[in-house]
Amino acid sequence: MIAPTLFPQHLIARKRDGFALSRDEITAFVRGATDGSWPDYQLSAMLMAIMLRGMSPQETAWYTEAMMRSGVVADLAAVRLPKADKHSTGGVGDKISLHLAPMVAACGVAVPMISGRGLGHTGGTLDKLEAIPGFRVDLSLSAYCAQVGKIGLALIGQTADLAPADKKLYALRDVTATVESIPLICGSILSKKLAEGIDVLVLDVKFGAGAFMRDKAKARELAEALVAVAAALGKPTRAVLTAMEQPLGHAVGNALEVIESLECLKGRGPADTMEVTFALGEQMLLLAGVAQTAADARSRLAASISSGAALAKMRAMIAAQGGDVLVIDEPSRLPRAKFHAAITAATSGYVTQVDAMKIALAALQLGAGRARLDATIDHAVGFSELVKVGQAVETGAVVGVVHANDERRLAAAQSAVADAIQVAGARPQPIRLIEAVVGA
Ligand code: URA
Repeated sequence: MIAPTLFPQHLIARKRDGFALSRDEITAFVRGATDGSWPDYQLSAMLMAIMLRGMSPQETAWYTEAMMRSGVVADLAAVRLPKADKHSTGGVGDKISLHLAPMVAACGVAVPMISGRGLGHTGGTLDKLEAIPGFRVDLSLSAYCAQVGKIGLALIGQTADLAPADKKLYALRDVTATVESIPLICGSILSKKLAEGIDVLVLDVKFGAGAFMRDKAKARELAEALVAVAAALGKPTRAVLTAMEQPLGHAVGNALEVIESLECLKGRGPADTMEVTFALGEQMLLLAGVAQTAADARSRLAASISSGAALAKMRAMIAAQGGDVLVIDEPSRLPRAKFHAAITAATSGYVTQVDAMKIALAALQLGAGRARLDATIDHAVGFSELVKVGQAVETGAVVGVVHANDERRLAAAQSAVADAIQVAGARPQPIRLIEAVVGA
């Protein structure tokens, strides 16, 4: 029997009228989402009440904890190393997890990473990994824990028993205009991350044209809320606020991003990608306690690349998860598109814009991403050789290459990319990539 004080309509009315909910009330709501005892219309009404009235930091922490405990929480206590993860709010060409995780693992910090699929304009780490023939992301939680113990690194998809309340509530938020609420975002992101069994967490909170939170001030607000909630739940966390105006690196698309990420591990990564990689890796090593200063953290990360240790970790992870390790030395084994076309600059000058959102939508049209969670994606398609803002180009120079599997989409993508890239006479101000580090 539910106590009348915990009836859904009573709790919804309290939030609607601006009251703070108690821990028991929040737990009742999350339990209702998990066991199906609250119907969708009451869950949706509560989500909208939270969206409009907000939640205090204490309510948000209780909500996040209840979401995390709605399913299993991985137990990695047997892994002796410090355990750190990184989560990005999502960007375009954001392949950083692929090479950052082995770099950090090579520095003596275990990286248990449970990641998501791409939805809408942002790509997902799992989709990129699945471009590697045979690579399995659907490990059980016990296989994941065993792999973290063995090689210090695992990168898998969300299992059904991890934060199931988020699965239910996220699907409702998506269709009830309640995605933008900061307390709901905190509960959603952190419940999944804190269930991984980590000790510390680093967040890459993006702002700009290609980010989920375009506005810098709003992104900072989100970063501060995420850090505060994670700290209240006993997980030291920092957020790095980074610009997402143009795609990271030169490649967008699953297999193409794997190739670029392997280049990062071989010491040939694009400057912008490596700048964000080092900024995030530095915070992971500092929070995990294996480096005492930023300079020390950076030199350890750099050494993980120059010594080949990070690439060896990547090889071990691909092998452990059933992937074709030969792709490391022969990236041509990755899926390749049938058609290719270069886009060239119409005038000489400086690149002033490579609009991340336009590029992302063009990639989505090519089939590199999914508009719906159940859609299939084409791992081979996307863009390579994209120019960077500030680069000088001559008329006729290649500013990007389209990889497509059908000729109609090839032509459409060519004109979409040409529209996303602007060239002008005056050199633009460089984009500042790392805006701030939030958290003690
Ligand atoms: N990513 C998530 O996992 N949840 C949100 O609410 C927003 C972004």
